[in-house]
Amino acid sequence: MSKERLKKIEISGPGINFDYAHFLPNSPKCGVLHGHSSTVSVTVVGKMVDDMVVEFGELKKMVKKVVDSMDHKLIVCRKYLSHLDNGKVKVEFDGVGGHYEFKLPTNSVYVIEFDSTVENISEHIAARLREMLPPNIHRIHVRMSEGFGKYATSSL
Ligand SMILES: [Zn+2]
Repeated sequence: MSKERLKKIEISGPGINFDYAHFLPNSPKCGVLHGHSSTVSVTVVGKMVDDMVVEFGELKKMVKKVVDSMDHKLIVCRKYLSHLDNGKVKVEFDGVGGHYEFKLPTNSVYVIEFDSTVENISEHIAARLREMLPPNIHRIHVRMSEGFGKYATSSL
């Protein structure tokens, strides 16, 4: 039986970053609407195909596509939204200092299924990459910062 050649590659660095707004109603500090600048690095482990796990340029393109779709948006859990007419959504929550309610264009909002913690956002990025990457990739690790010196890593 031939040994499977599993290898690991990583991309990070300039251009793989995004800025976003969010709120975490249950957090004493993050229970207000505020923003973060994040960097992302992605490590993939997979079987070698033609002596490569995946071409760096291809991987970077996929990661950029995902992070660019979230850039300068309000990342928000579906449970806080209600849809209005004319391409608008209403966002509502009880956070630090009281009740928040605002209406904004649908295309300025990026909806996820869980509260927008760095743990959940990095997992969401990993799940989107899983759909795009070829089947020889066995494992995806997404490391994402939330401001300076704070990181979460999600593995799928
Ligand atoms: Zn925050």
